[in-house]
Amino acid sequence: MTNIPRHKTRQVRVGHALIGGGAPVLVQSMTNTDTADAGRTAAQVFELARAGSEIVRVTVNTAEAAAQVPRIRERLDAMGCDVPLVGDFHFNGHKLLAEYPDCARALAKYRINPGNVGRGAKRDEQFATLIEMACRYDKPVRIGVNWGSLDQELLARLMDENARTAEPVDSDTVTRQALVVSEAGMGTKGIVASTAALGVLLQEGIGDTIRISLTPEPGGDRTREVMVAQELLQTMGLRSFSPMVIACPGCGRTTSTTFQELAEKIQRYLREQMLQWRERYPGVEDMHVAVMGCVVNGPGESKHANIGISLPGSGERPVAPVYVDGIKTVTLKGERIAEEFQQLVEEYVRATYGEGGRLRRDEPQKKRNIPIKTAV
Ligand code: SF4
Repeated sequence: MTNIPRHKTRQVRVGHALIGGGAPVLVQSMTNTDTADAGRTAAQVFELARAGSEIVRVTVNTAEAAAQVPRIRERLDAMGCDVPLVGDFHFNGHKLLAEYPDCARALAKYRINPGNVGRGAKRDEQFATLIEMACRYDKPVRIGVNWGSLDQELLARLMDENARTAEPVDSDTVTRQALVVSEAGMGTKGIVASTAALGVLLQEGIGDTIRISLTPEPGGDRTREVMVAQELLQTMGLRSFSPMVIACPGCGRTTSTTFQELAEKIQRYLREQMLQWRERYPGVEDMHVAVMGCVVNGPGESKHANIGISLPGSGERPVAPVYVDGIKTVTLKGERIAEEFQQLVEEYVRATYGEGGRLRRDEPQKKRNIPIKTAV
């Protein structure tokens, strides 16, 4: 784990989750379903929580959505999922919370944007109602947005578009719209933008909970943002969620895609196993597995991992040496290298982190200085 000093913050309880005050940096996410559709929303919240989201936010924008929030909570409870739900409110939040007390109770936190609480003279009154509801139901409120991620080009474009409309809104409103849009992004742009911005803040010890705002492909997997958030925290040494697969980036020494396929397969396998391993094998989330592309540089890197394999590069003998805790234990060959290596990983996990492996696990861990190349 890293020794980045964290900023001192006051601890807030959101359902059973603790934010700040020295608690681990929490991963959160947000649904993109219509909250009025309780079935689909509960299913997506469940998937996000299963992927590792420790808090999930849902939009509460209409009376129908507010009415369904308690139903969503009930469905989740029935599935054994206790992830805290956060309600995201804009403009009519004061009204919805006052008129739907079951919704106000079922949510673990209210999220508001001060710019979207109300306009003119009504703003303070509506804001006061929101705070009154939060006090009545003893719920924390998240206020505000992150101005640091504002895309200036996007802001200029939105300002121009706004100026051309029949009824332009004020510049503050446009800036807030730009902020919301530039928080997110598709594919690698979204990942790079979010991790670059959050990485800097986390390195400064700022941030008690993070969300990676990714715009999913149509029909894409919403849980990707949870995985990216976990990988960011794990790469920075702030938390451990699942074993890390270290794969070399590949070069002219290996022209086949075998090692990339194996690295991906192992990563997927480890993630799937973590649903059971988390309870059964404590500490397994700190494991490092190396999958290298040739036997020239591969063994050196493999030795630093808990378990590592070097696949044969171009023109090399079709053999794959395996290192366990820095020692070469076996050389795999033939068509079933991937399956056999997966089996070795499974045996290593059982022997090291399982009941019988307690003594080994409790030994002081060998300090591993692993140069991270490509974490797939
Ligand atoms: S381990 Fe081998 S294949 Fe992979 S990048 Fe290094 S030299 Fe290239």
